[in-house]
Amino acid sequence: MKVLKFGGTSVGSAQRMKEVANLVLDGEQKLLVLSAMSGTTNSLVEISNYLYKKNSDGANEVINKLEEKYRREVNELYTTDEYKAKGLDLISEHFNYIKSFTNNVFTVFEEKVVLSQGELISTGMFNLYLLEKGVNSCLIPALEFMRIDKNNEPDTTYIRENLTSILDKNQGYEIYITQGFICRNAFGEVDNLQRGGSDYTASLIGAAILADEIQIWTDIDGMHNNDPRFVENTKPVSDLSFDEAAELAYFGAKILHPTCVLPAKVNNIPVRLLNTMDPKAHGTLISASQCQKRIAAIAAKDSITAIKIKSGRMLLAYGFLRKVFEIFESYKTPIDMITTSEVGVSVTIDNSRHLDDIVDDLKKYGTVEVDKDQVIICIVGDLIASSKGYANKIFEALKDVPIRMISYGGSSHNISVLVNAKDKIEALKSLSAKLFD
Ligand code: ADP
Ligand code: ASP
Ligand code: MG
Repeated sequence: MKVLKFGGTSVGSAQRMKEVANLVLDGEQKLLVLSAMSGTTNSLVEISNYLYKKNSDGANEVINKLEEKYRREVNELYTTDEYKAKGLDLISEHFNYIKSFTNNVFTVFEEKVVLSQGELISTGMFNLYLLEKGVNSCLIPALEFMRIDKNNEPDTTYIRENLTSILDKNQGYEIYITQGFICRNAFGEVDNLQRGGSDYTASLIGAAILADEIQIWTDIDGMHNNDPRFVENTKPVSDLSFDEAAELAYFGAKILHPTCVLPAKVNNIPVRLLNTMDPKAHGTLISASQCQKRIAAIAAKDSITAIKIKSGRMLLAYGFLRKVFEIFESYKTPIDMITTSEVGVSVTIDNSRHLDDIVDDLKKYGTVEVDKDQVIICIVGDLIASSKGYANKIFEALKDVPIRMISYGGSSHNISVLVNAKDKIEALKSLSAKLFD
């Protein structure tokens, strides 16, 4: 069976849902993962922010506007009075639930329940639409099988056992539909896989059922060779290896959730990135095969903080790096880039929640400097050490951009540089011009 994930824009209106139905109904059995309609999760975040501030008027205004939008979409989606009524009931049920939070204490637990409503509504609406069309369709609740553990990592055994058991009990349907993004945590509470997490849902499901293929349907024809939000004339990359795709996703290519490649890679399941607006386009095929000797694409990861720790004599002082890394570990803060010299080490982090504590602790081992507002620019491809000329081209392109850190050699797929946020767009553009034109 194939797993097909449709993102927010792809299910963003009644019209788009109808197009998705046309795309998927070819008689072949499929499992669909749907996001919330575009803009919905942002609105739910806005509602939550009002509720944290106990501003129920502000929250109600956003809730009512959102509910109105959904009522209009429902009226457009269904043809019969019977299904229009079912659709409106579904909307009322979810919005009454959201409204119930305006009268109570509001904490992170309630927020997660509010954030889960977008996917619950879109999947409910789409399932009803297929049923109205006479399709043999089955809605399977993600909250019954998608689960993260105490470390917020997916509990793959639980997911596999529960999903297969649900599918076994519901055999013979043409289309299975489930929610992206939402899950339960180790305590059974409603939680989520972080913003953009529907891609991750699709790959976790693909891995759990050993799907033939995972398809990520979105609003662009595959992974482009640079970020199309900042650079013109970017082009889709037809093939990427799992490792290249993982690097690009982790380092900012928004088309893929940062961690969604791993479950597919581990199980060797091909991932296709496809465009709902142009379904015939080839898109990008992500698989185990590696295109030789080429730069595939460039991505940028924002909001990076660089921390430099200078110690008297680092290389001779064995144990220094361990002590430094232990501090980051104790604050559960992952390090993205590392560079070293005789006298010190520079690292970058993107989660600066514990920055002050980390800096305080690091001061035990040396002098510490912090640079905020940095961006990692990541050039990804088959950049094996034996091939010549790539570094030269990259640094020629970046000759007018001040560079704070450089990293190569951690893998043969990635050269990363750290630049100031204000130089990001210039750097991306000149890299594209030099490497791809
Ligand atoms: P969805 O809602 O379907 O999950 P996203 O907005 O999360 O879609 O991802 C698709 C968007 O990712 C594109 O519209 C594009 O603006 C952005 N994007 C950023 N980098 C890339 C890239 N390298 N290739 C393709 N799209 C990218
Ligand atoms: N709806 C969620 C979000 O907007 C998850 C997703 O779309 O992947 O972040
Ligand atoms: Mg997305």
